[in-house]
Amino acid sequence: MSRETPHKIIHLSVRDVRFPTSLEHHGSDAMHPDPDYSAAYVVLDTDSGLRGFGLTFTLGRGTEIVVCAVQALAGLVVGKTLQEIVSDFRRFYRLLTSDGQMRWLGPEKGVIQLASAAVLNAVWDLWARAEGKPLWKLLVDMDPERIVSCVDFRYITDVLTEEEALQMLVEARRGQRQREEQMLSEGYPAYTTSCAWLGYSDQQLRERCTEALEEGWTRFKVKVGADLEDDLRRCRLIRRTIGDHNTLMIDANQRWDVGEAITWVSRLAEVKPLWIEEPTSPDDVLGHAAISKALAPLGIGVATGEQCPNRVVFKQLLQASAVQFVQIDSCRLGSVNENLAVLLMAHKFKVPVCPHAGGVGLCELVQHLILFDYICVSADLSDRMCEYVDHLHEHFANPVVIKNARYMPPRDPGYSCEMLESSVRRHQYPGGDSVGISMKK
Ligand SMILES: [Mg+2]
Repeated sequence: MSRETPHKIIHLSVRDVRFPTSLEHHGSDAMHPDPDYSAAYVVLDTDSGLRGFGLTFTLGRGTEIVVCAVQALAGLVVGKTLQEIVSDFRRFYRLLTSDGQMRWLGPEKGVIQLASAAVLNAVWDLWARAEGKPLWKLLVDMDPERIVSCVDFRYITDVLTEEEALQMLVEARRGQRQREEQMLSEGYPAYTTSCAWLGYSDQQLRERCTEALEEGWTRFKVKVGADLEDDLRRCRLIRRTIGDHNTLMIDANQRWDVGEAITWVSRLAEVKPLWIEEPTSPDDVLGHAAISKALAPLGIGVATGEQCPNRVVFKQLLQASAVQFVQIDSCRLGSVNENLAVLLMAHKFKVPVCPHAGGVGLCELVQHLILFDYICVSADLSDRMCEYVDHLHEHFANPVVIKNARYMPPRDPGYSCEMLESSVRRHQYPGGDSVGISMKK
């Protein structure tokens, strides 16, 4: 970023954008039977003409509350220059997440945290555009000192200090260039969730899995948790379709109590799932630890994170050996800043990160973070993969590119958050063309 162009932020707009995915059961699971994939969509305008785009993901009703929270934060952003924000990004992160009055609404969780994520995602997008790089490349090219200066270490220094994080990043520099070249040519491994939403019929499951196999997918996730006999039938069907050599994961979306989770998943062990995702409440750290311990002899790990609101909960999950797979989320945590903290902690605890990306825009965003993780932090691909769903990419200016079931690194400047204006207008709530259909409840 040239010193002559500070990019003063002169306006923030936020819109409620809803897609009627519930009409065809896309995204349906044991706790969310009728999601309308939606976003609070933020655009930052600057005096230079450069714009930043950001979003946070929601399931439909209630997005207007996130929009209100973004509006409440706008005064902390408008009037600042990009240059002054990124010159002390930790300070700005804390200004947004720890505002003396608004932190009462969280702190760092719930609607206010989703709003912070939307705003910060737009700031990161703006920064990457100002540098003319895709976000992952902006991060890869940063000095380790600069990276740690973006992270708020408050509440996590008992497991990770700034000095340790810096040391880890310096050590991971070895082989960085080769890993970047590897990613540019091969891409990052992905798995698909689009074949087995809970609301799909057996015929749909079979057809979608068969199609995915033909496209080269080898890792599949199935929604479970509503009915055990139904789960057994569906999982057996999918295991038969994909074969024993491919990977299967199961996801209960917080449906069970702890004991119930252990009993239920033990019954599903015959289909050999790699992990059970979100077996119980996302807040129940010790419950996840109990489930992990009980399922370890069956060779089934526990995965969670899509509804872990902050680095503190991830810290505890790691401290308690409660997760074997860390699922970061680009819109639930406080944007790139807080995701960096979780990536670094996961590396310290040697737990693989497999990002959550089921939702509109989540694949577009989180691919940048996991590319950075491989190139600059973990340097490891074993037991690692990034979620992929094949819905709604057509609404983005720079949609994800999947080749041979791998995410190909984005080449366009920014954080891939920009939506097509025609899509935003069409799906804006209220008033868009199509959302009214699924809002009649
Ligand atoms: Mg999930």
